[in-house]
Amino acid sequence: MQHPQEHPREHPTDRPGDHHDVLVVGGGNAGISLAARLLRDGAGDVAVVESEAVHRYRPLLSYVAAGEATMADLERPAADVMPGGVTWIPERVAAVDPEGADGPVLTTASGRRISCTTLVLCPGLEEDWEATPGLREAYAAGWAGSSFVVETAPRVWPALRDLTSGRVLFTVPPEPAPCGATALKPLLMACDHWQRAGVLGDLDVVLVLPGSSPLVLAEADAELDRVLDSYGVRVLREARVTGLEGRAVRVATAAGEQVVDDVAFAHVVPHYRAAAWVAEAGLSGKDPAGRVEVDPSTLRHPRYPQVWALGDAADLGIRPSGGALRKQVAVLAPNIRAVSRGGALERYDGYTVMPVTTGRRRLMFVEVDRAGRREPTVRFPDLVRPRRTSWWVDRHALPQTYFRRILRGKV
Ligand SMILES: Cc1cc2nc3c(=O)[nH]c(=O)nc-3n(C[C@H](O)[C@H](O)[C@H](O)COP(=O)(O)OP(=O)(O)OC[C@H]3O[C@@H](n4cnc5c(N)ncnc54)[C@H](O)[C@@H]3O)c2cc1C
Repeated sequence: MQHPQEHPREHPTDRPGDHHDVLVVGGGNAGISLAARLLRDGAGDVAVVESEAVHRYRPLLSYVAAGEATMADLERPAADVMPGGVTWIPERVAAVDPEGADGPVLTTASGRRISCTTLVLCPGLEEDWEATPGLREAYAAGWAGSSFVVETAPRVWPALRDLTSGRVLFTVPPEPAPCGATALKPLLMACDHWQRAGVLGDLDVVLVLPGSSPLVLAEADAELDRVLDSYGVRVLREARVTGLEGRAVRVATAAGEQVVDDVAFAHVVPHYRAAAWVAEAGLSGKDPAGRVEVDPSTLRHPRYPQVWALGDAADLGIRPSGGALRKQVAVLAPNIRAVSRGGALERYDGYTVMPVTTGRRRLMFVEVDRAGRREPTVRFPDLVRPRRTSWWVDRHALPQTYFRRILRGKV
């Protein structure tokens, strides 16, 4: 695997302590697609701070955890996805001062200071291991794991595939989470597999849901409840895992605490929060998860006009998703230009998407706006209805679109 290094083709003037016109923190889905879009629109000096050497198309992790994809399908060297012309700074941001004399300044873990005219924050969310006592230990012991934690995704399917009896527990994480509803994908693909293998009736499958329903759209929730019921999944609603110990999972529900014991495998997703340095910089507002406060329409910080945010790290009043970024990038890129050239700001309506499998080869796309109203990308056919073509699009077509078009700022 290639190690990160500063791009050789970059601005010849780049040197430690330098200044950039646009500095993007995080080279995930948000940072790369925004940087590519800015360059396509004519920006001259865009730098991306990204510490990881590997870039991942994370939606495919769900399919890895269901035996339908490999890690090689979703991983690329970060150097290969950095847009040509961008300055890649392979460092980890440790602190931000939004009020530096030359504009916002960030300090990296190695002590490097970089200032900018425009700062865009998109470092995603971090696992909050402390929120679920015993979870880290259960992951290490191997009886828990999830599609959401990269190191454990490849061992979920081997753990589920050969079960013929016993108890399995799945969770949907509370918000905010990176497309939390997709935690249902490994569950429902596994149920379909167990049903075909004739063992589903001998398994006790438990699902812990943070809300009263899995999604935010009534017709999609009704369909999912019907599917969960058809597989005989025991659903604990308005519930959350409060601890794991010795194959037992403690779950807090409105009716009190329950202990689900003798668990063969626990697909328990960690809770999430923003990096601590966001709040330390005074950039978060009232969000308990400490995400970057922005005007949810323009994506601009309300107190620091040179600071913007998008993606999972931005407090936008939506359920975060990669699919939401298509519309966020289309608003943020012109807004940065509008500020330097003058002009009205574009507005993001809060579009987001929840793709959920209902079986091994069927999937529903649930697309909503900030108010939870339907916002379908196509009017026909109705993509909330589970379809085989939607599954194929999600598993096979979207990864191609991601690497070939979305990361190149073309969508
Ligand atoms: C299992 C799983 C399944 C999913 N399925 C879907 C799906 O089916 N459909 C969908 O639309 N979305 C899905 N998502 C959500 C989607 O992947 C995220 O919404 C999307 O990746 C968010 O992009 P982002 O750039 O905001 O954050 P990220 O993708 O998390 O990227 C953040 C980047 O910032 C870097 N970074 C973090 N901290 C620092 C720092 N201090 N300094 C420098 N760099 C830093 C990280 O290394 C990372 O590369 C899924 C996510 C997961 C985990």
